[in-house]
Amino acid sequence: MKHFAVIGSPIAHSLSPLLHNEIFRMKNKNAVYSAVHMPPEKLEKEFKRLVADFDGFNCTIPLKQQILPYLSQVSSSAAALGSVNTVKIDGEKTFGSSTDAEGFLRSLAKHNINIAKDDKVLIIGAGGVARVIAHACAEKGAKLTFAVRNKEKAKALAAETEKLTGAKTAVCGLDEIKGKFRLIVQCTPVGMYPNPDACPVSDEVIACGEAVFDTIYTPLKTKFIKKAEKLGKKAVGGLEMLVFQGLASEEIWNGPTFDSGDEIHLLKTLEWALDFSPKKNIALIGFMASGKSSLGKVLAQELRFNFVDTDYEIEKAEGRKISEIFDVNGEEYFRKAETETLKRFSHGDRLVLSTGGGIISSPENAELLKREFITVFLDVPFETLKMRAERSCERPLFRDVTAAKELYDRRYPLYKKAADFAITPSEGLVKAVGEIEEKLKIEN
Ligand code: NAP
Repeated sequence: MKHFAVIGSPIAHSLSPLLHNEIFRMKNKNAVYSAVHMPPEKLEKEFKRLVADFDGFNCTIPLKQQILPYLSQVSSSAAALGSVNTVKIDGEKTFGSSTDAEGFLRSLAKHNINIAKDDKVLIIGAGGVARVIAHACAEKGAKLTFAVRNKEKAKALAAETEKLTGAKTAVCGLDEIKGKFRLIVQCTPVGMYPNPDACPVSDEVIACGEAVFDTIYTPLKTKFIKKAEKLGKKAVGGLEMLVFQGLASEEIWNGPTFDSGDEIHLLKTLEWALDFSPKKNIALIGFMASGKSSLGKVLAQELRFNFVDTDYEIEKAEGRKISEIFDVNGEEYFRKAETETLKRFSHGDRLVLSTGGGIISSPENAELLKREFITVFLDVPFETLKMRAERSCERPLFRDVTAAKELYDRRYPLYKKAADFAITPSEGLVKAVGEIEEKLKIEN
C-alpha cells in the first residue's frame, strides 16, 4: 500500500485527506492519505521520517517555503516562486513542485475563461495565494493591478512579479479601483466563514470585470460570487482550484489516470462535506442488530446533538408496543407512523435519529431520509448480525435464519440507495463515530 499525507499546522480541518482518499477509492488505488500535524520547528527533525514513511506529501501553511532546502530537486516554477506544495519521494530522493497555479488555471479553463497577452487582471489582496495567481496570470502575459489595504506589501509583490515575469503591474487601494478587467480575482479572506456577508469591493467594481474568481471556498458561494452572478458575470469559487491542484499532485505521484468529469464527482464530495451544517440532522439506518441505537447515542453525545429513537417515539405516541401495532394495524399503518415521525423530526435541530430496520421499505420514508437527513447506513455483514441476535433473546426475527437472510438481502440495496454514505462499524463505537465525523467534517 502507498502512503501519502498533507503536512502543515494547523491541519485538522484540511480537506486534502477527504479529496485524495476519494480519488484512491474512485481509481481503485491501494493507497491512503492522512493529515500530519507539523509545526515549522519540527520539520528539520521529522523530515527523514516523512521520507521513510511516505511515497509523497503535500505541504501547506506554513511549510511551503520552509520545505525547499530539504529537497533533492525542485521544479523550475516552484523554485522561481520559492513555494512547494507537492513532494514526490523516490527512495531517498525528494522532488518538489507546486500545483497551486495549475489548480487555478485548470479551474479557469473549465469555465472557458482564458487569460491572453495584455488582458487586464485585477487581483484583490497581496498574500500567499495572490502571489501564486499573479504569477500564473503574468506568465500568460496579463497586465496586473493589485487592489489592497496595505500598499507597501503589495508594491513588493508587484515588483517581484515584474522581475520574475516581465509583466506590467500597478497597485491601488481598495477604494481606488478604476477601469475594466478581463478577470477579477479575490485573494483575501474577506467573505469567508464566519463572516459570509462581507465583500471586499463594491458592486461597481464587480461590474467592471468580465469574469470573477474567488479563492475562498467556505462558503461555496461568497457574497462576492453571488453579486457577480447577479450581474450576469461568469463566477468561479475556490473549491475547484483546490480539487484541480489535488488532481495535479496525484498526477505527479501516480501518473495521469484521470478522465474528464472525475473532478465533478470530487467537487460534489467536497461540496457535500463543506455544506454540511450542524443544523442538519443525522439518521442511522441498517438491519436489526446493526447497532443503530448504541452508536446513535455515542454519536449524539460526541457531536452534542440530541438522540431520538424513532421506534421509541412511535410507541410513546401510540401508547403501545410496536409488536402490538403490527399485530393489530399491520405494517402499512406502522410505516405511516414512521413517515410522520420522520417528518416531525426533520424540522428538529441537531438530532441523531436511530431508525427501525424496515424503515426504508416504504419509498416515502426512503425519500424523506435522503432529502431531509444525513443518512448513514451501518453496513454490518449478515453473519455478524446473526451472532449478535443469538446472544440476545429479544430478536425473534432471527429465529428463522433463512427468512431473516432473505429479508436482509431484500433490504440491503434499499439501505444503500437511501444512504448518503455507509460505514462498517466493525472496530467499536469510538472508531465508528470517528469515521462518521470524518465524513461529515463536523467541527465541534
Ligand atoms: P494571506 O497570505 O494571509 O493573505 C491575505 C491577504 O488578504 C493579504 O493581502 C491581506 O492584507 C488581505 N486581507 C486580509 N484581511 C483583509 C481585509 N479585512 N480587508 C482587505 N484585505 C485583507 O492568505 P492567503 O494564503 O493568500 O489566503 C487568502 C485566501 O485564499 C483565504 O481565504 C484562503 O481560504 C484562500 N485560499 C484558497 C485556496 C484554494 O485552493 N482555493 C488556496 C489557498 C488559499 P494584509 O497584508 O494587509 O493583511
